[in-house]
Amino acid sequence: MSLPLESVYQELILKHYRSSAHRGEVEEPSAAVAERNPLCGDDIFLTVRVREGIVEDVRFSGHGCAISQAAASMMCEHAVGKSWDEIHRVADRFRDLMHGSEEAARDRALGDMRALAGVARLPRRVKCAMLGWDALAEAEKQAAE
Ligand code: ZN
Repeated sequence: MSLPLESVYQELILKHYRSSAHRGEVEEPSAAVAERNPLCGDDIFLTVRVREGIVEDVRFSGHGCAISQAAASMMCEHAVGKSWDEIHRVADRFRDLMHGSEEAARDRALGDMRALAGVARLPRRVKCAMLGWDALAEAEKQAAE
């Protein structure tokens, strides 16, 4: 599998893709969301457990390209233990990153997700990288109902 991204980043992406600590389903989910990206054939099934406004656990399953699965894994890593406000801040920064923001690419708050900065140069893959975040936004709506 080859991606037009720098090799150190590529390794990090493939690490998340091949063996994510966040694969599976949470127990007693507050929300369960299926998201599809028909442009690339990516599927994500996300389950989230929320207690008192904090995302206690979030896990994903599904299949698709390395970018979609790695980005979902990185998203889960960031969301666990956070409030929705904190998650929104990171989600907005990640969206900036996908729009090519160099400032976002230097933002340590994004952690491993900065490895996906090169995706901004591949407009058709941005949806792959956003799929997990889109699922999480939908899960937030469900959990609030
Ligand atoms: Zn994809």
